[in-house]
Amino acid sequence: MQNIENLLRKIPHVDRLMKNDIITNIGIYRHELTEAVRDVLAQLREELMSGQSETVPDDDDLAQTAVDLAASRARKGIRKVINGTGVILHSNLGRACLSETAAKAAFEAAAAYCTLEYDVAKGERGSRTACVEKYLKDITSCQSSIIVNNNAAAVLLILSTVAGGGNVVVSRGELVEIGGGFRVPDIISQCGCTLREVGTTNKTRIADYENAIDEDTKALLKVHSSNFKIIGFTESVGIKELAALGRSRGIPVIEDIGSGALTDVRRYRIYGEPFAQESLKDGADVVSFSGDKLLGGPQCGIVLGDNKYTDMMKKNPLYRALRADKMTIAALEATLRVYADPRAAEREIPVLAMLSLTEDELRSRAERLCDEIRRRGGAVEVVSTKSVAGCGAVPGLELCSYAISPLRTEHAASAASTSSTEGTVSAEETERCLRDMSIPIIGRIENDRLLLDVRTIFEKDYEYIAEMIAEVTGAPSNK
Ligand SMILES: *Cc1c(COP(=O)(O)O)cnc(C)c1O
Repeated sequence: MQNIENLLRKIPHVDRLMKNDIITNIGIYRHELTEAVRDVLAQLREELMSGQSETVPDDDDLAQTAVDLAASRARKGIRKVINGTGVILHSNLGRACLSETAAKAAFEAAAAYCTLEYDVAKGERGSRTACVEKYLKDITSCQSSIIVNNNAAAVLLILSTVAGGGNVVVSRGELVEIGGGFRVPDIISQCGCTLREVGTTNKTRIADYENAIDEDTKALLKVHSSNFKIIGFTESVGIKELAALGRSRGIPVIEDIGSGALTDVRRYRIYGEPFAQESLKDGADVVSFSGDKLLGGPQCGIVLGDNKYTDMMKKNPLYRALRADKMTIAALEATLRVYADPRAAEREIPVLAMLSLTEDELRSRAERLCDEIRRRGGAVEVVSTKSVAGCGAVPGLELCSYAISPLRTEHAASAASTSSTEGTVSAEETERCLRDMSIPIIGRIENDRLLLDVRTIFEKDYEYIAEMIAEVTGAPSNK
């Protein structure tokens, strides 16, 4: 006992270690280092008390341990993960991944001066979004466009500009909440508008809109219900009919289509997703959608519509606060440019590439990944599963897919030096283990099995995944 107390007394004070040269000369934030030093000392104290350690390392050793700990924690910010969830547009995992060219365009705009608002030919100030506007016109035949931070910002800008101080008529079936606190009624009041709800949750007819219009009505709004679906006895008014009503009464018709597919995604068996060009053709005066959902570009909100309205929006001081930055505009331009060639779009834009994978392709990918894992001594099997588009796009729609499922024996678990428990290793434990990797591998648990859906996994990550899963599931003799 006497001995332990002597040892404990030798543990340096936090302040003394913080003055050690190893710590003072390192580029890590001070509060992170202090925390690491405290944790290292606490751990040492515990080890001495339990008899696991019998000596106190010198200050330099302790300082180095603390620096290493702080450095490993400093990696924990935004970093790459592998998405094995099968959810193509996963809001927690950053939604759409950019194409390589779009990512490069963002990088170049960020790392050097660029023509954000400069017309090189004329040598004078230019338009911030002319480069994307021309593509949007080509793709959708819109009159003009505006790019803001996200679709929530787009709706905010549209309603504040077009309908501020007036009434906005919306069907009760469309008063939705989209993930992350975007509630249609709240946005409407935030814009200084009064909500006029019409119809019922499941049925709204054109007469309901007609009856709600009065001298204070400044807009008819249609919102894609995105993340939920009412089935059964339902009725709603299409944009065509609504646009005709708006036109006859001189009231702008606005549609928030949500996902903003720019190609006909019905070929991927995705039905019921409005696409921008159709909404405009059907007569909507203003249409808005996200850039990082089915479009497959960077996070932004895209507004398309009549010059009359977009000009008003561009003059609204809110636009200055909501407009998109140079990296976003560069990535969006590069994404839209590919849409000129639908085949190239499907090849290069990850969201479209993932949607277009056939069941055969998915099965052979799963088998290939499986082989790579087995070749490294890991245990895994191929399982058929269902992926989803995600992000409120087409709720209820499931795309047939294939997953790999790591198989773990108790033996393998102790070999991979995780907490080995009695009986078989739970899927939860394997899931946690893969999530702890330097590049976390995120899967989904279904019927007590961990699944990694190959639809959302990039082929360039197969080697890493194979190595990690072999490590977690492999028998020691194979390692
Ligand atoms: C996703 C969605 C939004 C919000 O878009 P963000 O780009 O995330 O701001 C708004 N409306 C609808 C209908 C949506 O589906």
